Amino acid sequence: MKVDFYRHSLEESDIERVTEVLRSTFLTTGEVTAAFEKKLAAYLGVKHVVGVMSCTQALHLSLLAWGIGPGDEVITTPMTFIASSNAVLHAGATPVFVDVEKRTGNLDAGRIEEKITPRTRAILPVHLYGQMSDMKEIRWIADRRGLIVIEDAAHCLEGERDGVRPGRLGEAACLSFYATKNITSGEGGAIATNDDRKADLLRRLRLHGMDKSAADRYTKLYRHWDMSVLGWKANLDNIKAALLIGQLDRVEDRWRRREEIARRYRDAFSRAPGLGLMSDLPGVKHARHLFTVHAPPDRRDAFLAGLQERGVGVAVNYRAVHLLDYYARQFGFRRGDYPVAEAIGDATVTLPLYPGLKDEEIEYVIEAVSSEAESWSSRC
Ligand SMILES: *Cc1c(COP(=O)(O)O)cnc(C)c1O
Repeated sequence: MKVDFYRHSLEESDIERVTEVLRSTFLTTGEVTAAFEKKLAAYLGVKHVVGVMSCTQALHLSLLAWGIGPGDEVITTPMTFIASSNAVLHAGATPVFVDVEKRTGNLDAGRIEEKITPRTRAILPVHLYGQMSDMKEIRWIADRRGLIVIEDAAHCLEGERDGVRPGRLGEAACLSFYATKNITSGEGGAIATNDDRKADLLRRLRLHGMDKSAADRYTKLYRHWDMSVLGWKANLDNIKAALLIGQLDRVEDRWRRREEIARRYRDAFSRAPGLGLMSDLPGVKHARHLFTVHAPPDRRDAFLAGLQERGVGVAVNYRAVHLLDYYARQFGFRRGDYPVAEAIGDATVTLPLYPGLKDEEIEYVIEAVSSEAESWSSRC
């Protein structure tokens, strides 16, 4: 058997919506983008959503919109995809890593204050695998120290913690519609915010800084436009929005299926010797973007190879960012600097988790993982 690491769940109706846009005259950012933004804002319970072409751009533009740039420090986590800290570098600021909690892999709020300096301007938590960071604590620290909070919610579209969803306590929350995310348009992203003025600024920053969009300029009578700030080219187009909008109707059904798969994995692996699992905290609706297991660090790479030999698609989310060549060279980071993130990075393996997984595929993954784990305990 072969179990793909990920398969999308696009349906004929999604493809039809895209075809409809392709048969229309207006392909770039227009009515369909606006409709998607409105629907996503309603789902998240925030006032504004601004669609962009990636979560990386969402993070970058959010940092710029809140005035973060050269000389500023942004506190973030080394247990994430490189986009989180790369976006800080794109803005010209310096990422300052804080180690993570062992049980969740999320930024350890209790260690934030010791990294705050007069240059610190923002905190950028990542809701790892779909389990939200402690946003109430992070908001409390940020308010006391005069910082802003930009959430990397790439994994956490459906997530909630203590009644708080992405974008409610942060100045902005950034989402990804990359090929393997919970809803996808191949590439795509969005910024969710309750700030009216920043939403307006973000709409300009995603389109060269122009004060009128193509829809403003061409679907009505032509009107002159002006450029008020230096922006980027990051606007989400009607084609991608058409692919995304129907997926939002099914987002909770898809989440329920992933929740069920995660429960089956968890039941099976909590009994397996030598396998570690992340904790699910009480009061959290886990968005179930990724399901990871931990192997002994000296067995991890053989575990990856063994699962792939058995036809199970796997990934590693993530090896700690500060140890990647560029970050280690640029900032002089060394092994030992963020030991909890390193321990996760050395042990972690991600298993297939998507609504289209069939029951026999789930059983097959459980069987493959369990027999790999048994081989470690029998050998030692
Ligand atoms: C996927 C991902 C991103 C980047 O998303 P893009 O849309 O590919 O730019 C950022 N942060 C995290 C945690 C991610 O997993």
